[in-house]
Amino acid sequence: MCGIVGYVGHRDAVPVLLEGLHRLEYRGYDSAGVALVHRGRLKVHKAAVRVRELREQVGKAPGVVGIAHTRWATHGEVTDVNAHPHTDTSGRFAVVHNGIVENSDELRAKLQASGVTLVSETDTEALSHLIAAAAESHETLEEAVRAALRGVEGTYGLVVLDARRPTELVVARNGSPIVLGVGEGEMFIASDVAALVRHTQRVVYLEDGEIATVRAGDFQTTGREETVELADEDYQLGEFTDFMRKEMAEQPEAVRRALRGRLDSRFATAHLGGLRLDPRDLRDVRRVKFLGCGTAYYAGQIGANLVEELARIPADAEPASEFRYRNPVVDSDTLYVAISQSGETLDTLAAVQELKRKGGNVIGAVNVVGSAVARECGSGVFLHAGPEVSVASTKAFTNMTVSFAMLALLLGRVRDLSAAHGSRLVTALQALPDQIASILEADDEVAAIASKYAQAQHMFFIGRVRGWPVAREGAQKLKEISYVHAEAYQAAELKHGPLALIDAQMPSVVVVPQDELLAKNIGTIEQIKARGGPVIAVTNASLPEGLADAVIQVPRNEPELDPILLTIPLQMLAYHVAAALGRDIDKPRNLAKSVTVE
Ligand code: GLU
Repeated sequence: MCGIVGYVGHRDAVPVLLEGLHRLEYRGYDSAGVALVHRGRLKVHKAAVRVRELREQVGKAPGVVGIAHTRWATHGEVTDVNAHPHTDTSGRFAVVHNGIVENSDELRAKLQASGVTLVSETDTEALSHLIAAAAESHETLEEAVRAALRGVEGTYGLVVLDARRPTELVVARNGSPIVLGVGEGEMFIASDVAALVRHTQRVVYLEDGEIATVRAGDFQTTGREETVELADEDYQLGEFTDFMRKEMAEQPEAVRRALRGRLDSRFATAHLGGLRLDPRDLRDVRRVKFLGCGTAYYAGQIGANLVEELARIPADAEPASEFRYRNPVVDSDTLYVAISQSGETLDTLAAVQELKRKGGNVIGAVNVVGSAVARECGSGVFLHAGPEVSVASTKAFTNMTVSFAMLALLLGRVRDLSAAHGSRLVTALQALPDQIASILEADDEVAAIASKYAQAQHMFFIGRVRGWPVAREGAQKLKEISYVHAEAYQAAELKHGPLALIDAQMPSVVVVPQDELLAKNIGTIEQIKARGGPVIAVTNASLPEGLADAVIQVPRNEPELDPILLTIPLQMLAYHVAAALGRDIDKPRNLAKSVTVE
C-alpha cells in the first residue's frame, strides 16, 4: 500500500519526486506529501489531497534531496496533519513509511511520558521521534535508524531524511517493499519500480530486515543489482481514458504472453519450467491448495476447479488472509499455490512464510518479477500480464486463470488425462486470445445493458459449479469500482433464503455455461423471473428466446475453460456501471493496489 519515492542527486528533487508519486498513486491516494532539504533546513509540504493538487502547493521548491509519499491511512484519519512525511519535534528528521507499526500505542505512550508532543494520530510519527532520540547517541543516521527500529514491531518500508546530512537518505525494509534505482551520480528510491523506470532500469531490491544508506554516488546493500525490463511506456495511458479500460483491452496480448512457450502440442501438455517439479514430483502431489486475497482468491477457486476436473486430485482455494491465523494443518503432499499480482500482498506473503515454516511445498503465481512472494517461494509461475495499475484487477486475474489451466493440464497429463483430451485443451488455450478479443468488441452492447441497470441499489451474481467463482469475481468487480452492493450466490442456494430478496428492483446477473448443468441454470432463471426479478444472462449457450431480459453472449470453447471467458463480460459490466455512475474507476474509494498492510 502507499507509495514512497526518494531522491538524492544533482537535479531538482521536486519534479522527480512528484512524477514518481504520480506513478505510484494507485497504491494509495488519500493524502500526499514531500520533504526536502535546502540550505540545511527541512521543508515539508503535505495535505489530504491527490498528487495533482500537491504539485500546485509545492511549486518549484528547491532541493536536490527529498522524500515523498502517497498515503493509504491505517492509523488516524485522512487529514493534512496525518499525511506523511512525519517529522520530529525539532524539525530535523523526516520519515515516510509504508506499513503498520503494531506497537505504536506503546511507543507513543512512552514518548509522551518522556515529554514529546505528538501532533498526528499516526503510527508513523513515533518513528521520527525515536530516530531523533537515537541520533543523539549514534554517529551515523543509519546507526540511529537501526537503534530506533530495535524497539519497533510491525511492518515498514521507510525512508529517512536528516536536514544535517543532505547528501544521504537511510532506507529500511521489513515486510513492505523498497527498491533502489541506480543512476549516474544520482539515486532513486521507491516502493515500486513503476516510479523508477523513467530514470533507470538498474535496480536493487532491499532484503527484509535490511537498513542501508543511500548517497548520490554510492550505496551498500546485500541484494545484487538487477536490470528491469519495464519501461516508462508500460505505465502510460496512451489512447485510453483510464487504466482499467487499457488493461482490459490488453488481455488478448497478455494471455498470448502467458501461453508463449508453455504449450506442448506434441505431448498434449504444458511446460511450466519455473515450478521446478519433474513428473515424479508432480505425481507425488496428493492435493492442491490455492491461497490468495480478493480477486486472486477467486482466481484460485477457478484454479481449484480446473485441477479437480483435469487431474482428479482434491483441490480447494482459501483466502490467504485467514490462513496463518487458524493454525492450518500443513501437509507435505499438498502443493500450495500462493497467488498475488503484485507479489507484495502482505497477507499472502505471511501465508507463504507460515507454510515454509511448517515444511509446506509452496509455489508462487505472481505477476511482478523480483517481488517478495516470488522470492520467498523461489519457484512458481510468472503471470506475464505486464504492469497492472488499475486497482481493480483484470488482465492479471485472467492470466492467473490461464496459468492455472496450464497447471491443471500438466497435473492431469502426469495422471489419467488422455492425450486426446490434453490435445483439445492445448488447442482451446491457444484459441483464448482471439476469443477474448471478440468478447471485448461487444463493448457498446455491454455499456447499454450497464446503463439500463446502473441505478440499481443491489445486484445478485448467480453461478453454479464452474460459474460460481465467476459470479463471485463479477460481484467483487462491481462492488469495488461502482460501490453498488453486489452479492454472489450459488444458484441452488438461492431458494434456501436469498430468493426472498428478489423483486423488480433487484437485478440478477446469471452465469450460464453451456455444460451439463444448463437445464438447471435455466430453471434458476425461471425462478427469478417468476418473482419479477430482472435477469442479465452471461452465457455461451443458446438460451430460449425471451428467457432473460438481457443476454451477453460469449464464444464457446472447451467447457473447462468457460470460467475464463465468462469473466470478461463481467469486468466490462462493472466498468460500464461505474462509468455510468461517474466513479473514479482506477482509484476506487477506500482501496489501494498492492495491499502491503494487514
Ligand atoms: N500506517 C501509516 C499511516 O497510517 C502508513 C500507511 C501507508 O502505508 O500509507 O499513516
